[in-house]
Amino acid sequence: MTFSLQGISASKGIAIGKIYLVERGQLEVPEYVLPKRYVEEEVERFTHALEAARKQLSAVRAHIPRDVASDVAAFIDTHLLMLEDSALTKAPAELIRERQCNAEWAVKVQRDALVSVFDAMDDPYLRTRKDDVDHVVRRIQRALLQEDKSSHPPAEGHFAGRVVFADDLTPADTVLMQHQGIAAFLTEFGGPNSHTAILARSLRIPAVVGLHSARQYLRDDETVVIDGRQGVVLVNPDRAIIQHFRKRERDIERHRAARSKLRRAPVVTSDGVRIQLQANVELPPDIEAARQVGADGVGLYRTEFLFMNREQPPSEEEQYEAYSGLVKKLERAPVTIRTLDLGADKQVDGGRPGAPITTNPALGLRAVRLCLREPGLFRPQVRAIMRASADGRVRMMIPMLSNSQELLQVIHIIKECRRELKREGKPFDEEMPVGAMIEVPAAAVCADIFARHLDFLSIGTNDLIQYTIAIDRVDDEVNYLYDPLHPAVLRLIQLTIRAGERAGIPVAMCGEMAGDARYTRLLLGLGLKEFSVHPNTLLEVKQVIMESELGALRKYVQRVMRAVKPSSRAALIDEINKPVVH
Ligand code: PEP
Ligand code: MG
Repeated sequence: MTFSLQGISASKGIAIGKIYLVERGQLEVPEYVLPKRYVEEEVERFTHALEAARKQLSAVRAHIPRDVASDVAAFIDTHLLMLEDSALTKAPAELIRERQCNAEWAVKVQRDALVSVFDAMDDPYLRTRKDDVDHVVRRIQRALLQEDKSSHPPAEGHFAGRVVFADDLTPADTVLMQHQGIAAFLTEFGGPNSHTAILARSLRIPAVVGLHSARQYLRDDETVVIDGRQGVVLVNPDRAIIQHFRKRERDIERHRAARSKLRRAPVVTSDGVRIQLQANVELPPDIEAARQVGADGVGLYRTEFLFMNREQPPSEEEQYEAYSGLVKKLERAPVTIRTLDLGADKQVDGGRPGAPITTNPALGLRAVRLCLREPGLFRPQVRAIMRASADGRVRMMIPMLSNSQELLQVIHIIKECRRELKREGKPFDEEMPVGAMIEVPAAAVCADIFARHLDFLSIGTNDLIQYTIAIDRVDDEVNYLYDPLHPAVLRLIQLTIRAGERAGIPVAMCGEMAGDARYTRLLLGLGLKEFSVHPNTLLEVKQVIMESELGALRKYVQRVMRAVKPSSRAALIDEINKPVVH
C-alpha cells in the first residue's frame, strides 16, 4: 500500500530509489574511572583518535571534485579547524586528567558543555555551529570506540541511486554519499537552513528534512518517491505513481536544459517590462557562478564571511581588497555590498570579543545595531566599501534598520567617512547609492520614512517573515508556521514596494522568497521590479519572468491578498503559475 510522509522541503527535485537507513547518530558512550597510572595512556588514546579523525576528514576534503560548490569544502574546513581548537583538543585531555575518566566520556562532557552554550543562542549561523560540534564530536567518539561506520561508508557503489534516511548528515558524509551517486536525502531533524539542507541545494540533490517520526515507517530497501519541492515522501509507490514521477523528472530535466539557453537573454516580461535579476553572493566563488548565469550584477553581497573564523576583524585594507576584487570581477555590473550583519552572539568570530550572550539574539544587538555600537568595527567597513566604489558600480546596503534614528546615524557616519577620504586623497564615488534592507516589520510599515533618505530598498524576506510571524527561522518545531504567503507578510511587501514607487527609488527583494520561482509571478504582480537570488535559481526565476504578462497578474494578486485560508492562497498560487513553474 502506498502512503505518504510530509516533511520540510529543503532541496527541490524528484528522486525515485530504495531507502538506505543510516543508523541513529547517538552513540552509546561508556563512563568509567581509570586507575591513576592509566591516565596518561588514556590521554594518548584520545590524541590518536583526534589524529584519526583529522586524517579521515582530510581524506574526504582531498576527494571533493573541483566542480562541487565551494561551500562544501568550507564546511569540511570548519570541521578540520574545530579538530585543532583547544575546546576539543585540550579541554577533554584536561578532563581525563582531572576526573580520571575515559576519553569517550571526557569528550561527551565537553560536548555537552559546548552545546549548552549554543543552545542558549537563536542565531542561524551559531545554530549550525552546534550541529558542527556534534558532527565533529561524533567523529572523535567513533574513532575512540572504533565504531567507524560513518567514516568508512559502505563500499563504492553502495549508495548509488539510494535515498538515504538519517537523523542528520555531516557535511563530510554528504559529500561522500554524493560521490557515490546518492539519489536523495531525508533527515529526521533540521530545518531548511541546516547545513544538510544548504548542501543539498548546492549539490542539487533532492532533500526533505524534519521528517520527525518517519523512521518507524521506513524499511531498508523499500522503494520511495521524493518530491523535494513539496517536501513529500511517497512510500511503496505503485507503478502508475512511479511512471507519473518519472515523467515529471524528465520534464524537469528538459526544462533545465532549455533554461541554460536563457543566460544571455534580457530579462523582460512578455509585455515588455524590463526586470532586474541580480545574484546573492556570499563566498568568492559565488561570483563566478553569478557571471555564469548572466546575472545583472550582485543584489546582495553578504560580508559576514570575511569576519568569521578569526580572532580579529579584517582591517580596512583587507576589506577594501576583497570588495574591490569583487567589483572588478563584475566589470561594470552593479554590486550591492551589505554592511555587517553579525549578531550579539557572533562576536567570537572577529567581531566583538567577550560580548555577553543574550536570551534572544535575533532581537538583540545584531547588524546595524551592533555596527552603531561599535564604530571601530563599522567605520573601516564603510570606508572600505566607499573606496571600492572608485573601482566599479558599488551600492552600500544597511541591514536590519528599525528606526529612522539609526538611519540618520549611519548617514552621519557615511558623511564623516567621505570627508576623511577626501582629506586623505583616497578616491571614491561621491554618488555611491546607499540603501537599506527592509526586514523588520517596523521598517516595512514606515518604509516611506526610510525611503526619503535612501537611494534604494531591498526586502529581506528571511528575516521579515521571521519577525512578522514571530517564528525562529531555524527552528524546525515552528517551521510549519513559516509562510511567505501570510497576508501580513504580503501586505508588508506591498507597503514597501509602494513606498519605493512614491519616493521614486527602486525596491528589490533579496530574501529566499525572491529566488523561489513559485512566488515570482505573485511578486511581479505586487509590482516588484528587482530580484536578487542565489545563482542556482536565477535562470528558473528568469524563465518565469519572461513567460509572465504583468498586466494579467494584478487581478490574481488581489485575490491572493484577500484569501483567508492558507489552502486557498496555495491554490491561487498554483493557478497563477500555470503552466510555467516546473
Ligand atoms: C533576509 O533576511 O532576507 C536576508 C537576505 O538576509 P539574511 O538571510 O542574510 O539574514
Ligand atoms: Mg536578514
